[in-house]
Amino acid sequence: MTKKPYVTKKQVEEIAKTYPTPFYLYDEKGIRENARAVKEAFAWNEGFKEYFAVKATPNPAIVSLLHEYGCGTDCSSKTELMLSRAVGITGHDIMFSSNDTPPEEFAYAKELGAIINLDDITHIACCEEACGGELPETMSCRYNPGGVFQMSNGIMDNPGDAKYGMTKAQMIEAYKTMMQKGVKYFGIHAFLASNTVTNEYYPKLAGELFELAVELKEATGADIRFINLSGGVGVPYTPDGTPNDIRVIGAGVEKVYNDILVPAGMGNVAIFTEMGRFMLAPYGALVTKAIHEKHIYKEYIGVDACAVNLMRPAIYGAYHHITVLGKENEPCDHKYDVTGSLCENSDKFAIDRMLPKVDMGDYLFIHDAGAHGYSMGYNYNGKLKCAELLLKEDGSVELIRRAETAKDYFATFEGTDFYKKLDI
Ligand SMILES: *Cc1c(COP(=O)(O)O)cnc(C)c1O
Repeated sequence: MTKKPYVTKKQVEEIAKTYPTPFYLYDEKGIRENARAVKEAFAWNEGFKEYFAVKATPNPAIVSLLHEYGCGTDCSSKTELMLSRAVGITGHDIMFSSNDTPPEEFAYAKELGAIINLDDITHIACCEEACGGELPETMSCRYNPGGVFQMSNGIMDNPGDAKYGMTKAQMIEAYKTMMQKGVKYFGIHAFLASNTVTNEYYPKLAGELFELAVELKEATGADIRFINLSGGVGVPYTPDGTPNDIRVIGAGVEKVYNDILVPAGMGNVAIFTEMGRFMLAPYGALVTKAIHEKHIYKEYIGVDACAVNLMRPAIYGAYHHITVLGKENEPCDHKYDVTGSLCENSDKFAIDRMLPKVDMGDYLFIHDAGAHGYSMGYNYNGKLKCAELLLKEDGSVELIRRAETAKDYFATFEGTDFYKKLDI
């Protein structure tokens, strides 16, 4: 499948007059179509809800847009909970799935009425104390089966090495303990593989969790109300990949639901998801301009964005497809490293990438950056984070987060003599 940008060079030239590069550009149309497809794929389940993983794209405009399709939020920190509250998402529309949780965050989650998903058995006591001695009526626990997560196409991930979740024995003990403490309704959560590009992941995970749910119910008598398949549904970052089909995934989960839960008398259990990447990655791009070329032992194209704006290539060696806008149909007959300006040799958006000849001033569209893109940014080398723009369905552009300024960078020194000497 070829990856096509959702803007033309002409549009970007126009946008750049108001908002200089680099910037993130999100595609409202794509976000909406996908959110609708997710909703339809799980419409067979009455209680279905997608809790958008806020950490993927923590922008109020994006979170609100998804909320129109019934999406809640999956939060793992106080500020994510605050973001959620400020856009009007509270109560059971929030899933608080954190780990190594600071006690005060449990208290804040309870205050908002969020569903608290405990990562560890020791968090029962911690959460209870933080919540003034009383756990919420509904609680969830995160499961880790250990070992490796295997599917027909091989090992997908290694839960046994992951810091998350509880063992099965701990799950049983946790439910019993919480029932004694007055908790009435329960959920089960697990996140066992990341960025899976196969329609099999959710159905396989669901099968394991449904069996666990039946076992837990038998062992404890707990009233299990929902099963949370969390995130991990991926997108193909390379152009040769085949995208997941959420309708096939939804139907696959429905089949195991009917095979396992319904015969066990658990046909009213709600299915929850916490997708981040699948909801947003393809519908956000980092748009950057070529500002330098360098010819030494290799050919380099320097752009005005750097790993501060998108760090996945630098830290994971992740592939992000690049389109040189206006040269979509030219042959990719030049080999480049596309670099940012950090004093880190890993600051490369692409290595040995075949692209059309890049001229200074060309705009590069870095695909699939809509999730875990802007949000992972940092301020190394004093670099500032860029703006986020929403390309609306009518073709207009809305600024949904301005670019950082030096004032933001130095804000934490405000009130000091140092700050007074800055000309800002
Ligand atoms: C990161 C995360 C998600 C989202 O993961 P994606 O791979 O973006 O879908 C969901 N739930 C939890 C608990 C997470 O930590």
